Amino acid sequence: MSALREVAPDVLVATHAYCTTTTTVLLGPGSECLVVDPAVLPGEIDAVAAELDERGVRVGLGFSTHPHWDHLLWRSSLGHARRLATRAATDAVRAHLPTVRAEARTSVPEVDTTALGDVEALPRGARTLPAPWRHVQVLEHRAHAPGHAALLVPDRRTLMAGDMLSDVEVPLLDLTADDPVGDYHAALDLLAAAAADVDVVVPGHGGVGDGRELRRRIDHDRRYLQELLGSQPSADPRLERGPDWLRAEHAAAVRWVRDHR
Ligand SMILES: [Zn+2]
Repeated sequence: MSALREVAPDVLVATHAYCTTTTTVLLGPGSECLVVDPAVLPGEIDAVAAELDERGVRVGLGFSTHPHWDHLLWRSSLGHARRLATRAATDAVRAHLPTVRAEARTSVPEVDTTALGDVEALPRGARTLPAPWRHVQVLEHRAHAPGHAALLVPDRRTLMAGDMLSDVEVPLLDLTADDPVGDYHAALDLLAAAAADVDVVVPGHGGVGDGRELRRRIDHDRRYLQELLGSQPSADPRLERGPDWLRAEHAAAVRWVRDHR
């Protein structure tokens, strides 16, 4: 059975059981591709690598959307291409590598963490990826994690959102930041500005959506943030349907807002 499903021309997505995590592949016009946030289990990553091999495609570049362990995985089966992340993200990985590794092993003991920290920084403020075979825009922001970046592929009208715009997770704030809610709103503004050029949104966790669904998720996430700031109990169905850890993250955000009034 094929792990990769085509969600837009040249855009392939594999969806994994752990937290509905996605792996995204952007094929080039030639034989090179970009792999974004490959996950999760060693066998799952190897299966994606084997499918690319069967298609005669070589990984020309890797990208991690942000410095959390489930977006920093890599295996030698994917080859040894450059792996990039924003400067702020690579700084965060370097500063916290032992913690990131420990989080990975606690969350999924079988995970392969050998190449976890091997990401190279994009030049500060870079707006595009150095992938000459396709134009890929980097939309960097500070929501959820330092140096988080979404990728926009204009000629495929596709947005790879990292840990934003999920249909299964509420906004998860970076509570170590000075203004986590402000950062999140700013990131949603950035993604909303790109929405007119997007027909396919691929979140790091959850289901792929179309342009209408993208706008619905932006509105939904804004409503969640408003309820959080207004100290209203959240009626967000993602909390009710979701796992215990999601409700615990939400409770931590509620406490943060209360403590920072
Ligand atoms: Zn994640």
